[in-house]
Amino acid sequence: MKVPAWNPAVEFMAREALERVQLAGLRQTVAWALRTPFYRRRLAEAGVRHPEDISALRDLRHIPYTTKDDLRAAYPDGLLAVDREQVVRLHTSSGTTGMPTVIYHSRQDLDGWTELVARCIVATGAGSRDVFQNMTNYGLFTGGLGLHYGAERVGMLVIPASSGNTSRQVQLMKNFQTTVLHATPSYLLHLHAALASEGVDREQLALRKAFIGAEPHSEETRRKIEQLFGIDAYNSYGLSEMNGPGVAFECQYKTGLHLWEDAYVLEVIDPRSLQPCAEGETGEIVLTTLQRQATPLLRYRTRDLSHLVSGHCPCGRSHRRLARLTGRSDDMLIINGVNVFPSQIEDVLMKTPEVGTNYLIQIDKRGSLDRLAVKTEIYAKLFTGDPRTLDDLRERIAEQLRAAILVKPAVELHEPGSLPVSEGKARRVIDLRPAF
Ligand code: ADP
Ligand code: ZN
Repeated sequence: MKVPAWNPAVEFMAREALERVQLAGLRQTVAWALRTPFYRRRLAEAGVRHPEDISALRDLRHIPYTTKDDLRAAYPDGLLAVDREQVVRLHTSSGTTGMPTVIYHSRQDLDGWTELVARCIVATGAGSRDVFQNMTNYGLFTGGLGLHYGAERVGMLVIPASSGNTSRQVQLMKNFQTTVLHATPSYLLHLHAALASEGVDREQLALRKAFIGAEPHSEETRRKIEQLFGIDAYNSYGLSEMNGPGVAFECQYKTGLHLWEDAYVLEVIDPRSLQPCAEGETGEIVLTTLQRQATPLLRYRTRDLSHLVSGHCPCGRSHRRLARLTGRSDDMLIINGVNVFPSQIEDVLMKTPEVGTNYLIQIDKRGSLDRLAVKTEIYAKLFTGDPRTLDDLRERIAEQLRAAILVKPAVELHEPGSLPVSEGKARRVIDLRPAF
């Protein structure tokens, strides 16, 4: 089978050549960064005053990390590395974990970003014959415009639907025979539930693929989306600090997310010791931009957790792969002293056939004890009027959760459509415990 690729010369580049490209990009990035007061100070502390002070890629290790708090402290323009006249756009993060951060783009930066997104799209096997409906927010959030320009560059017919308005989404999908969707996984599950109420069934649609990202989701969730719609779903990872979508994406083989290493240096570190992880060990993803002029970022701590997939992908791309992201290092909940990741709860729920498409995790405190409640929608047909069926199911889910996370939650079963849905990133965890 021929492997489709947008930029084969770069995507299949030999590792040695790729590393030479990275070194040149790193030097250039240091030169850009030295134009900002923030990095001039930071780099001087590390003994880097000129781009030539970087003689090999491993010199990156002497450069201090940049954190989200650094970006917040430099807000709004302490990290701007070009004249304001050269800036053509800005984006901010969604603010999931606090004050949003801002990233500026020059025309060249936008062009580079578009190229990376085009590679991702083509790597999944999508192309100019596809009709692409972009269901993520067009605005400061990067998922809208980021995917939009990449898809246009590939030559797809783009429907800039933006997020929300589910019944219009369904009409657009039907009337224009959309073949490829981009949305958050939680929104796609909601959309599927809405198809029936809109009186549309799968056969009236022409869907074949979806790009899903912007929030953590399990393999079970991907499989559920694929089965419900009868399509292939590809994991898309990005963050506004690194442009947005287009950082790492699954190719048609879905064996992990290829990270474009001509555009980013990838490191995986232990978030406590800040030392590099051994190959294949899970840790925090740290990324350095190699092509971004207006807001260069050196060793940015993403707080996202993943590990490198070893071996080669059957597609033959030389760019290494990240495993599915398990969440953020600060997502971890400590419940009565036990560490719990929301993704572990999602895994159990999505493996339970009766469970529908939406769920919520709530933690509060009674006296000195934390209490965990897991609220999940189940299929309408299960509300038969016989309380025993529901009791059994509740107990079964609670037991499975206890086995997975070592905490037995109170499980609540809800009718489809009764838990709050978000048009953007899902808010799955409500922590009502006092801060101290
Ligand atoms: P915020 O960090 O405020 O949510 P962004 O819009 O920049 O703002 O979102 C980027 C973040 O979204 C990433 O750092 C990561 O935590 C999450 N994310 C994006 N894509 C994925 C994905 N495919 N899987 C898991 N998490 C993802
Ligand atoms: Zn591949």
